[in-house]
Amino acid sequence: MKKETDPPSDPLPGPVDFSNTEIAFQQLSDRELRRMYRLFKMMSHPWLVALGSKLALLANRLHLPLFATIVKRTIFKQFTGGVSLMECTRTIQKLMQYDTLSILDYGAEGKTEEDDLNHTQEHILRTITFAASSDSVPVVSMKLTGLVDNLLLEKKQKGETFTEQEMYKWERFRQRFDAICAAAKEYKVGVFVDAEESWLQEPIDEIVLEMMRKYNQNKAVVYTTYQMYRVDALGRLKMDYKDITDNGCFFGCKLVRGAYMDKERERAKDMGYPSPIHPDKAATDKAYNDAILFCVEHYENLASCNASHNLYSNAYQAQLIHQRDIVKNHAHLNFSQLYGMADYITFNLAKEGYNVAKYLPYGPVKEVLPYLIRRAEENTSITGELGRELRYIRQEMKRRGLLK
Ligand SMILES: Cc1cc2nc3c(=O)[nH]c(=O)nc-3n(C[C@H](O)[C@H](O)[C@H](O)COP(=O)(O)OP(=O)(O)OC[C@H]3O[C@@H](n4cnc5c(N)ncnc54)[C@H](O)[C@@H]3O)c2cc1C
Repeated sequence: MKKETDPPSDPLPGPVDFSNTEIAFQQLSDRELRRMYRLFKMMSHPWLVALGSKLALLANRLHLPLFATIVKRTIFKQFTGGVSLMECTRTIQKLMQYDTLSILDYGAEGKTEEDDLNHTQEHILRTITFAASSDSVPVVSMKLTGLVDNLLLEKKQKGETFTEQEMYKWERFRQRFDAICAAAKEYKVGVFVDAEESWLQEPIDEIVLEMMRKYNQNKAVVYTTYQMYRVDALGRLKMDYKDITDNGCFFGCKLVRGAYMDKERERAKDMGYPSPIHPDKAATDKAYNDAILFCVEHYENLASCNASHNLYSNAYQAQLIHQRDIVKNHAHLNFSQLYGMADYITFNLAKEGYNVAKYLPYGPVKEVLPYLIRRAEENTSITGELGRELRYIRQEMKRRGLLK
């Protein structure tokens, strides 16, 4: 029986051959490839990931150093650039050897204390100056949930009145984010702002669009994110594009399918409101691919990033670029995958000359742990895209004679 997560059965569109595993894993030594294989195999067991995630959170809370070491040598090594910007340097250079850019992301999220929020801002500002000093890091990525307490975002979305102290905190948040966007513009570095759960997202969208109007006069500095699993996303993308361009500014957007589907559906069910998520995968896929088409059709006035591990969606954008005779590496048409995943997409696109970047999170293990758990959970599905990942790793191991 065909599973919901199976890739489309139509032949893959476009000019890129994604099945070349020699190119896909060229950056990995035999030892690294074996390590990746073991890790992906382990992550394909949902019970192991569920248990490991619980233990990791507990060990983190209890400050157990042995567990931090295990995490650091396995999943942390696979999916992050390191604990600091300096540690990322080697990975950034290695990616660049294979014509792949890096998008740096300081992994803080879910912060509440003012000191922590200020600390995150300092890290992001440092990431921007670091990016400015490198030709291989055009963009940094951030989560606004690292700059403001989630409870405040939720309260703002509900339209509840802030106390005086909350008003002060909100103002501080605005200042932090504004300073980041101003620095990005000054240093000619882009800023991708991640999309979050729907009950936090409205104030995020509002402030990101405000910053776009302020800082995107000549080019895209600030980029907003659309989760195409949301029923309203395609409509919002088109409306926001019109708003920003009508204001004489440049539009910047990142497209994703969306990371919080189960949480969204559960909350909608518990609280008795209609789910904001498309009813099935096919509807999300259609919306995603329609959004890609919209971005390619309007590429002269917007800069976009197709942030996906879906083979069809990547092949589709390459095909649209090819069909319209647009230069392959046009600065407004980008692709991105997470570091440690979907290398067969990244490096085959890079080899063909498209603009492709790895999303490279960094930070102390305790900060990036929620991100790592999301990656492990995502990789428990051995159908569809993720099954393909494991199949390609196996194929490359066989090609190198490492597996019979
Ligand atoms: C560079 C990069 C940046 C990212 N930034 C963000 C971000 O800012 N915010 C964020 O939320 N996520 C972000 N993500 C994660 C992203 O949203 C997806 O979870 C992940 O990439 C998997 O989707 P996919 O397009 O790679 O492919 P696929 O594996 O084809 O799609 C899986 C996705 O399809 C959707 N889906 C699956 N089943 C159904 C169903 N039954 N009904 C409806 N929809 C379904 C879900 O969104 C699921 O995650 C980012 C991913 C990348 C690569």
